[in-house]
Amino acid sequence: MFKKILIANRGEIALRVICACKELGIRAVAIYSEADRNSLPVRFADEAICIGPPQLAQSYLNIPAVISAAEIANVDAIHPGYGLLSENANFAEVCKACGIKFIGPPPEVIRLMGEKEKARAAMKAHGVPILPGSDGVVASEDEAKEWGRQIGFPVIIKASAGGGGRGMRIVRNEEELPALYRQAQSEASAAFGNGDLYMEKYVEHPRHIEFQVLADEHGNVVSLGERECSIQRRHQKLLEESPSVQVSPELRKEIGDIISKTLSQVDYQNAGTIEFLMDQDRRLYFIEMNTRIQVEHPVTEMVTDVDLVKSQIMIAAGAKMADVLQGPIVHRGHAIECRINAEHPEKFTPSAGKITTFNPPGGTGVRIDTAAYAEGTIPPYYDSLIAKLIVRGKDRNEAMSRMGRALEMFIVEGIHTTIPLQRRILADPDFRAGKIDTGFIERFLAKKAEPV
Ligand code: ADP
Repeated sequence: MFKKILIANRGEIALRVICACKELGIRAVAIYSEADRNSLPVRFADEAICIGPPQLAQSYLNIPAVISAAEIANVDAIHPGYGLLSENANFAEVCKACGIKFIGPPPEVIRLMGEKEKARAAMKAHGVPILPGSDGVVASEDEAKEWGRQIGFPVIIKASAGGGGRGMRIVRNEEELPALYRQAQSEASAAFGNGDLYMEKYVEHPRHIEFQVLADEHGNVVSLGERECSIQRRHQKLLEESPSVQVSPELRKEIGDIISKTLSQVDYQNAGTIEFLMDQDRRLYFIEMNTRIQVEHPVTEMVTDVDLVKSQIMIAAGAKMADVLQGPIVHRGHAIECRINAEHPEKFTPSAGKITTFNPPGGTGVRIDTAAYAEGTIPPYYDSLIAKLIVRGKDRNEAMSRMGRALEMFIVEGIHTTIPLQRRILADPDFRAGKIDTGFIERFLAKKAEPV
């Protein structure tokens, strides 16, 4: 087993990895920017190293600075968390060249899944269902028109290097295609330094359903079931749950078997998430794979009792799946997570600043993953996620009541948060009935704002 791990991240996920290290008896090394000097990961890590000024490019995304810290601390491995360098194949390669284990898949697998149209082709080749779409990258506007006709409108243009919904455009007919194609291309070039685009059929009112997998370094892959992530605003998830009301045990097994087989054939390793869209006939289609731990991983942990971060570390240290899991995967009850963002609940503008009161809820079945605290400051430089509130109940009804009361008892003052919005979602009749799709929030926000 590793003796020392460096955590190349910040905020709640850095703290989450520190928890796993402590439970495994591994020393944890935090890195931090000058803006995070007083953060909880710095306080709870065994060692902490300042790697630069607040700006991401000069600190958490500065590969030489991160690697130097790892060399100075003499760590065995690096856990990248999510976002930041977690899906950077170049970073994984540098770690390897320096003799430091990157806790994630090999660089070539990260690279394959990072080029989304290549990932689509790889999944298709192994029998995973995908949406009708272009055969690889679309080279020109004329080619895009040709594909549009062939696939049938509406279609969606997507960035090959995509993430966070950027470089994505829905095209309803051929006339609007040229302008939207150019917009997607310039947005993708600006965001990712790569303007490659591909196209696929646009699904009306889809659900976003993703499957969690774990793969060891000996060819064993398991699926831990699905998470329903349809409650999203501008393609950013706000609330996730597991299981999905639309996934039957048969469908869970069928998809679990296909993806396990596929991932073992592409030599996948460590934790990963395969994202699907579900159409109104309950058919699932692959859209992309994330080769890292996800923000919403706790809902899977709550219903399976598998610690995914500890599993990642054990797998990276060479453990076999049977030793990591120590028994079959059993799904129990229902879990819901709310992502509490430091944002205005209606305008969604970021709300950095000092937290004056911070009273997280407790009680049966409630989990909080956060690095926030009273009198602490939310710096303006980073992601707006300040806490994840996760509950588990014996069924969806109990989980919803528990989340409702936990949100009510979660007091954060000094900054704006999304808590009032999430309280309203929990009270919404359509949400309670499980009638959700990726357009839910837009329809919901259009309804008159009623006080809770
Ligand atoms: P990104 O990597 O930018 O997050 P994804 O491919 O994961 O992009 O898609 C993000 C979201 O965009 C999905 O959750 C869904 O809401 C919407 N979306 C993506 N592809 C389609 C599609 N073919 N039809 C309808 N909606 C889609």
